[in-house]
Amino acid sequence: MSCLFDYMDQKNYRRFDQRNTIFNRKDLDATAPFFNHDMYENVNKIISEDKDGYSQLEFARAQGAWAVYNYFHEAFSWEKMGKANSTMQDVDMAQYQIKDLDRFTAEVKASAQLYGASRVGVTQLAEDWLYSFDGRGGPIVIPQEYQYAIVMIIGMDIKEIKKSPAISACTENDLGYSRMAFLIGCMAQFIRHLGYKAIPMGNNIALSIPLAIAAGLGELGRNGLLITPEFGSCIKICKIFTDMPLQLDQPRLFGVKEFCMKCKLCADACAVGAIQFADNPSFRIFSRSNNRGLRRWAVHADLCYQFWIDNGGECSSCISVCPYSNHKGG
Ligand code: SF4
Ligand code: SF4
Repeated sequence: MSCLFDYMDQKNYRRFDQRNTIFNRKDLDATAPFFNHDMYENVNKIISEDKDGYSQLEFARAQGAWAVYNYFHEAFSWEKMGKANSTMQDVDMAQYQIKDLDRFTAEVKASAQLYGASRVGVTQLAEDWLYSFDGRGGPIVIPQEYQYAIVMIIGMDIKEIKKSPAISACTENDLGYSRMAFLIGCMAQFIRHLGYKAIPMGNNIALSIPLAIAAGLGELGRNGLLITPEFGSCIKICKIFTDMPLQLDQPRLFGVKEFCMKCKLCADACAVGAIQFADNPSFRIFSRSNNRGLRRWAVHADLCYQFWIDNGGECSSCISVCPYSNHKGG
């Protein structure tokens, strides 16, 4: 576990309750200053101010980008999908016989890449990273047979993300979510047609970043995000839990922590001081949206979300300034 986060304090670490994420606290936590305040509540007022990068065109384009994520509900189904638009019959197939695990895993990863993944890793499903409860308070219980997590990242276009915090950057970010839904929907159906089970998910059910680290896709940065060698933090992460046997990947360290100890560009770029300047990672946390028991640079999520509300949409400035995000296309 120590290679995932500099150090996990097993005595204090608890599975994180999804109700404590910012997007659930805005609806559930009456003590939060942003209780009952939505990221989009100021949109019409902001449009009327006529600022560059905040026009109705830009807001509408970003809303369009959400369409697949928000309305393709079956992408997140735990069962084979139901009613199809196509008039073709669904095909029942026997369970695929895996003869060579390495070659089979490569085929599964190749499928994910065909469906839109930029990188794919596989890790054993560890209970530590499952949310304890979902956003509605239902306990999260994953049946024992789901031993594997396929973790997929989708690279975003850094040129678009660099427009942050203007709403122009949100289209690429929101498209990332729709691409996630497309990818997990396709992958889940692929796995089911091989005769195995699949639970597809975006940011729900389990913490994406530790699973991605365990699957060898990157390291945790000062900005609180996964940093990958190929795309930096300019990515989305989605995952599938499955009972289908796969070859596991191993975590990869490539010096992110040491670089972040000196760099601090993301902390400089954050308009609301939500990112720590401390040289060393620590157990310091700021609110119930940070889980305790992990030594890292926790981000002050409450300040960050308040900025998103004031901005009328997501901010990606701590992604756009990161040197790792600028390896490509910057
Ligand atoms: S998203 Fe923006 S407000 Fe939030 S931590 Fe990053 S730079 Fe700060
Ligand atoms: S901007 Fe610098 S300090 Fe921040 S995550 Fe990237 S490398 Fe680390």
